[in-house]
Amino acid sequence: MGALDSSYHLWRLRRRLQWPADRLYELKKRKLAELLNYCYRHIPYYQEKFRQIKAQPEDFRRPEDLDHFPILEKEILRDRALEFLDSLANRSAFMRYRSSGSTGIPLELFYHPAERLRMGYTVTRELIYNGLRPWHRLVNITEPRHTSPKDRWYHRLGFMNEKFLSVYESSALNLKLLRVIQPHALIGFPSVLMLLGQQMPLDEGLVLKPRLLFTIAEVLSPEDRKILTAQWGVEPIDLYGANEIGHIAFQCVRRKGYHLNTDSLHVEILAGNKPVGVGQRGEVVVTNLDLRVMPIIRYRVGDVVQRLEGRCLCGCTFPTLGHVSGRSDGFILGLNGKIFSALEISLLLKPLEEVNQYRIIQDQGGKIVVEWVPRDSNAQPQGKIQRLLKERLGDSMEVATRRVSEIPRERSGKIRAVVSNLPNPFWKRT
Ligand SMILES: [Zn+2]
Repeated sequence: MGALDSSYHLWRLRRRLQWPADRLYELKKRKLAELLNYCYRHIPYYQEKFRQIKAQPEDFRRPEDLDHFPILEKEILRDRALEFLDSLANRSAFMRYRSSGSTGIPLELFYHPAERLRMGYTVTRELIYNGLRPWHRLVNITEPRHTSPKDRWYHRLGFMNEKFLSVYESSALNLKLLRVIQPHALIGFPSVLMLLGQQMPLDEGLVLKPRLLFTIAEVLSPEDRKILTAQWGVEPIDLYGANEIGHIAFQCVRRKGYHLNTDSLHVEILAGNKPVGVGQRGEVVVTNLDLRVMPIIRYRVGDVVQRLEGRCLCGCTFPTLGHVSGRSDGFILGLNGKIFSALEISLLLKPLEEVNQYRIIQDQGGKIVVEWVPRDSNAQPQGKIQRLLKERLGDSMEVATRRVSEIPRERSGKIRAVVSNLPNPFWKRT
């Protein structure tokens, strides 16, 4: 897509934020019919589901009718990934993407490059709506991509001035680079931005004063929000997404709830598989209306949010969600007072192909335990786990591994890749 096409596409997407509710509803209905027809004709997993419930795509005329369709669990997507692909499609055109995020369940996902690009545009729209301008310097502190070179959805947000820093670089080096770039806007994991913010007053040099601070990929707790605001002089705007399905919702400048990307997703908030009432909390279940290579219908994301109602005063007509519940992923305490972002450490284990799930537990500084569930009886990932973690945490860090048959969900229903039982190192300091 050329620059002109991209600008036009973004402009169209941006306009939808003010569409009246009935127009958005019609768009969703049309997209849902197309999605279900496609899955019915092409996708083995969904063909099986339609057969099991003795239904046809026409039985689901409105998004609300989807409540009769089976819910898709993360474990099914992991174990039966290839059944979500059209058996006749030319798979060489697909991008393969490994994800584990904050859950510790490695998933293998497939996309068409155009689908990843569209997901990127949704993010760009969130940034533009919140004040980012094309002439702004934007820095994205993220994990470097080591999958396919084509996988550049984050890397193509449509900005000429976007730069990337790696979460695996030291805070000192990243601060040095940030001082050279002097970004107008920063995007990063809350934990990583907090580590940078803590280091900032200790380093000499120009003061960093971004106008916009976007947080992503971890739960942003109210405490973390206060710390980041104090450190950076600007209150973060939180963006909520999941690798499998793209960005789900975003905060606006009012920072009350999160606007759902309702033009590309159908989101349900359920408790005991029934919709919750207004003000109640429930699990997030998402249908992506645009994906075709690996369509996702009624996917239980594993987060708990509050259902809100009423329009936000910012002018965006997209419905809003409440805050995502739960603790933030927190930090791993290394040796000699070193602090690491827990999400950054858990992402290191993403390449483990021999495990179905993993979880990192820290009960004392300088030591971690990694629980892992084998994919099959021959799995021997212990050496790889040690190497991947010690490379980052240091050779003297004690890394124990423990084979387990299952890793239970937390009481909230959330699946967490990292459990730190140590006090959050930032809470004492502010
Ligand atoms: Zn708003």
